[in-house]
Amino acid sequence: MKFETSEALFLESQNYFPGGVNSPVRAFGSVGGAPVFIKRASGSRIFDEDGNEYIDFVNSWGPCILGHGYPPVIEAVREACLDGLSFGAPTKKELILGQLIKECIPSMEMMRMVSSGTEAVMSAIRAARGFTGRDKIVKFKGCYHGHSDGLLVKAGSGALTGSSPDSAGVPASYTEHTLLASYNGETSVKDLFEQFPESIAAIVVEPVAANMGLVPPSPGFLEFLREITTRYGALLIFDEVITGFRMGIGGAQKYYNVIPDITTLGKIAGGGMPMGVYGGRREIMETVSPVGKVYQAGTLSGNPIATAAGIATIKALMEQPEIYTGLEKKASKLVSALKEALPDTQVNQAGSLLSVFFQTTPVVDFETALTSDTKKYAKYFHYLLDHGIYTAPSQFEILFLSAAHTDEDIETTCNIIKEAARHL
Ligand SMILES: *Cc1c(COP(=O)(O)O)cnc(C)c1O
Repeated sequence: MKFETSEALFLESQNYFPGGVNSPVRAFGSVGGAPVFIKRASGSRIFDEDGNEYIDFVNSWGPCILGHGYPPVIEAVREACLDGLSFGAPTKKELILGQLIKECIPSMEMMRMVSSGTEAVMSAIRAARGFTGRDKIVKFKGCYHGHSDGLLVKAGSGALTGSSPDSAGVPASYTEHTLLASYNGETSVKDLFEQFPESIAAIVVEPVAANMGLVPPSPGFLEFLREITTRYGALLIFDEVITGFRMGIGGAQKYYNVIPDITTLGKIAGGGMPMGVYGGRREIMETVSPVGKVYQAGTLSGNPIATAAGIATIKALMEQPEIYTGLEKKASKLVSALKEALPDTQVNQAGSLLSVFFQTTPVVDFETALTSDTKKYAKYFHYLLDHGIYTAPSQFEILFLSAAHTDEDIETTCNIIKEAARHL
């Protein structure tokens, strides 16, 4: 496979963008080589500027759950464009999307739309602090909640991939209220509540951790978080930016039957367009301006094109619940193939989410995730890429399946995984 055009574009892009990219993981920093520059995508396939074709398991990091260019979504966007791109005023489409989201996730009694997952979580935390009158938040090592200052502590994902878990440019005083706990580590959470019984506003958690590779919650962990936050008068925030509409139409909260106070959405909620949402109990959300004193705004919030894409995507998912059983089946096939081909690895799965860790000890939290052999992952990644399988360029990201992946796509992928194993 030739990558000449991508290589040239990457070189030139470095004169314009730090590292040649507009989001760090895209730079292939942890796997080496030049990123492939994407020209277009269709269904399960993505095509680069050199004319190479890949089966895509990134799917824009999740949003394209229906596959690329799903006709009803494209049609909805096309129609919306003709009516104008942005008005900075309320629209009926926002109401329709809000109604659909609440129907799928009833705990989001009232919500606010923003333009990214980062904004959604940042704003949710502000609302939680405003509502409780408390300053501290608990986050888990290895969970990623976007790049807002207070959350860039042991943040996983790109921050981890770049081997700088914490960021320069964030004053220490900005993160002094961010308390760190261990994912799946109940004791670490208990200790924090005992130390700060009356000053923790909220726990923010990815109900299925998907930014340190995939780490599912241990049985009882989410129930424990629900119980301890209630007991201490703190709020529970589920960051469902990945799991929302992915672990089923009701998100991880329905899948595990644990209901948070606030939920954040992104990725799938915009069907491939920039969109974030945060919402929860009415009394909490009514602390947000203009009703309450928690200020939060956005010029392009609830953008008509993004809402059109979100509505079409969520409607399609609601109308075809079999998509989720299909996704899980495909995921399980991949998991079996990975386990068989790579016996010296750990394969984690939750619903249709999965990832492979190059190590022999079980991965249950940030520390265990970090012991993976990232060099081996890089070799595996490049073998797949060279053979037309596009996966995440980092050990600490996961595989995203879509409804467009055919049985044949999965079969092909399983075979290439087997070949890759022989070349490692
Ligand atoms: C992607 C992600 C975010 C950030 O969303 P952006 O749209 O990239 O700002 C927040 N939380 C989780 C769990 C994510 O996976």
